[in-house]
This record gives sequence, C-alpha cells and structure tokens, in this order.
Amino acid sequence: MAEFTMELNDEQKEVRDWLHGFAADVIRPAAAEWDEREETPWPVIQEAAKIGIYSLDFYAQQYFDPTGLGIPMAMEELFWGDAGIALSIVGTGLAAVGVLANGTEEQIGTWIPQMYGDANDVKVAAFCSSEPDAGSDVASMRTRAVYDEAKDEWVLNGTKTWATNGGIANVHVVVAVVDPELGSKGHASFIVPPNTPGLSQGQKFKKHGIRASHTAEVVLDNVRVPGSCLLGGKEKLDARLARAREKAMSGGERVKNAAMATFEASRPAVGAMAVGTARAAYEEALEYARTREQFGRPIIDNQGVAFQLADMRTSVDAARLLVWRASWMAVNGKQFTAAEGSMSKLFASETAKKVTAQAVQILGGNGYTREYPVERMHRDAAIYTIFEGTSEIQRLVIARTLAGVPIR
Ligand SMILES: Cc1cc2nc3c(=O)[nH]c(=O)nc-3n(C[C@H](O)[C@H](O)[C@H](O)COP(=O)(O)OP(=O)(O)OC[C@H]3O[C@@H](n4cnc5c(N)ncnc54)[C@H](O)[C@@H]3O)c2cc1C
Repeated sequence: MAEFTMELNDEQKEVRDWLHGFAADVIRPAAAEWDEREETPWPVIQEAAKIGIYSLDFYAQQYFDPTGLGIPMAMEELFWGDAGIALSIVGTGLAAVGVLANGTEEQIGTWIPQMYGDANDVKVAAFCSSEPDAGSDVASMRTRAVYDEAKDEWVLNGTKTWATNGGIANVHVVVAVVDPELGSKGHASFIVPPNTPGLSQGQKFKKHGIRASHTAEVVLDNVRVPGSCLLGGKEKLDARLARAREKAMSGGERVKNAAMATFEASRPAVGAMAVGTARAAYEEALEYARTREQFGRPIIDNQGVAFQLADMRTSVDAARLLVWRASWMAVNGKQFTAAEGSMSKLFASETAKKVTAQAVQILGGNGYTREYPVERMHRDAAIYTIFEGTSEIQRLVIARTLAGVPIR
C-alpha cells in the first residue's frame, strides 16, 4: 500500500543517462571555448536539436512526467555539462513556457515551432520582462502596450534589459503594461513575430559568468503586432483586468495567489540548474583531492580537505531533495504553504555559490586558473542567486508566506 520511493523508474534513468552522455561528450568539451568567445554556441544547439534535446517535444515530455522529476533531472544534467551552453539550450524553453501557460491553442501551435526552428535551421526565443528600473520590483515596469482598435493592433514602446537571447531571438515574448493603474496585475504578454519593424537589440552585456549565453537589451520603438499576438486573447485579458479592478477595490488576494503559485512551480527548475553546477564542481574537487599530493600524500588525506568535500556533497544532495520535493508538489497540485518552490531555489543557488567557491579552494592555484573548469563554474554559479528572483526576494517570499503578513 505504501508507494513512497526515492528510486527513479527505468524510463527516467534512461533519459538521465542519455542527457548525461550529451552533457559529458558534447557540452563539457565545448564549454571553455564558448565561455571565452562569449557567443551563442549555435553548433552545440544544433547538435542538441539533431538528437531531439532542443525541441518542444522533449521539453513537454519532461514537463508532463507525473513524478515531477523530468524537468529537474534534465536541468541538472545539462547544467552539469556547462551552465552557459545549457542556458543557451533551455533559454527558448523558458519563453515557450510563457506561451504554453498563457497562450491559446492556436498561439501555441503557431509560435512555439518558430521559437525552435528545426535541426537544419535552429532558432531561439527570448522572454523579456526585466527593465533597467524594474528588476525585482516588477510592478514598476514601464514598457507600454496600447491597443489600436481601428487596426486591431497593439503598439509596444519601451526598453527591456538582461533578456536571455534578446535581439537574436526569432520570437520575442514581451511583458508590457496595459493598465498602469493595476501595478503588476495590469501587465500582459505579447508575441513579437520574427523581423517585426521597431524591435532592435540594444547593448549586449559582457558578463562575469554564463558567458556562452547571450544577454542583451531589447528596444521596442513603436512595435506594432497584430491583435492575435496578445497571449490568451483580448477577451480573456479584458475579463482578467475587470476582475483585478474589482479585487483592487476589495483587497486582491486571489489574483496575487495565482501568480505566486506559478512562480513556486517554476523556481525549482532554476534550483536544479544550480544543483547541476554545484555537483560538477564537487566532482572536480573530489577527483583533484584524490590525486593531488602534498607533504607526500593525497590532499584528501587531510580532514581539512575531506570534511569540506563531505559538506559539499551533503549540501548538493540536500539542495536536490528540496528541488525534487517542490517539483513533485507542483505536478501533483499541492499547495505551497511554506513557499517550498522559493525555498528550493534559495537553497540550491546559495549552495552552488558556496560549493563552487570551496572547489576553487581545494584546487588551490589551479582552481584559480582557466586551465581547470572550477574557475568557470564559480563564475557561472553567481547567476543563480540573481536571476528568476534574487535570494533576498526568495527570502521575502518565504518569510511572507510563513508569517502571513507583508514583511518588507
Ligand atoms: C544573465 C542574466 C540573464 C537574465 N535573463 C533574463 C531574461 O531572460 N528575462 C528577463 O526578463 N530578465 C532576465 N534577467 C533579469 C533578472 O531576472 C534580474 O536581474 C533580477 O530579477 C534582479 O533584478 P535587478 O538586477 O534589477 O536587481 P535589483 O532588483 O535592483 O536588486 C539589487 C539588490 O537589491 C536587493 N533587493 C531588491 N529589492 C529588495 C527587497 N525588497 N528586499 C531585500 N532586498 C532587495 C536584491 O536582492 C539585490 O541584491 C537576467 C539577468 C541576468 C544577469
């Protein structure tokens, strides 16, 4: 009768091993080169497309794994290979999920294939929400979408920043303000189709880590998109805005809770990316500590080193368990009564930063050079506590959920 198990089923193990093979044989060997080039690794994305890893089908299969572990397992393996390249591979999925979550069937069928292209002509997509003055504080977004009823078109104006694949994407998903009175509840998402006039790439950022992933500003200057590009459609938007206006006058808790649940369900995926990087660094450090000799014996013979490795592995496993718990909860419709999704992202991202720093220390001088991958992993790990909600914002969400009051 008791069905609890911590064991992966055969199908999951097969997918995990297949992904691990791609990460070890294709991603990892290319990692240093694309980190130095600071460019999108198109040939690696194409390899992933050829074997079906870079596709909506693959993403959807993992997404609908009833145990919830499909996505976290895939993220961990790909990011174990290399964070920058893996983000170039899964970045499109993040934009596609925006369409899957809010789009009509027709929008999903029209735009998602164009986000991926095909194995002979791969494309990427971008999700553009953040702005120079609206990072953690999403409600202060300024990009405006105004409806031109005569032409049934939306006109978008504003500047987005830090968009993964921004400007090089075939399809951009842009979040914009449709009703400034309603704060974040007055936002809507739009598809900007390929080659739409008025959308251009601004600055491309030179970054500390995940340098194989393209991050740039996206400028929207009188960008006109057909009415059909509003995700979910106008009727649904009007109904949602009417509800939000009503709620705004009487407290507004339910709308907020729905948005919160979406974030709780998506954050464990970022936690899983962090677990992948942390595990990779731990493994490098373990191997190095076994083989590097000082004072006539391997450095792992010293408790000072071995205990660090024990702590590193314990943290990586604990992070994975939190990620898996939250992913399982999301798929099984459990209520996140303690913000378990945010908890998993907070712990896993802080773990990745700490474990990669410990790995650099264990590798000593070598760890500080680009001859060894832990230097890159340490730089890469710093992103996890920043994007998809900083660690401080995760703590805020967890604390507010526990306390039930709006802690500042
Ligand atoms: C490489 C990279 C890729 C990205 N990809 C995308 C993307 O594809 N699409 C997209 O839309 N965005 C993307 N982002 C943006 C990312 O989500 C934001 O950088 C993030 O949300 C933080 O916003 P911010 O940088 O404006 O920091 P700020 O909000 O300015 O925060 C600065 C500091 O203040 C702290 N802080 C802010 N408010 C509070 C508070 N209330 N309490 C306590 N501390 C607080 C923060 O935790 C942080 O430490 C990306 C960013 C990077 C760096």
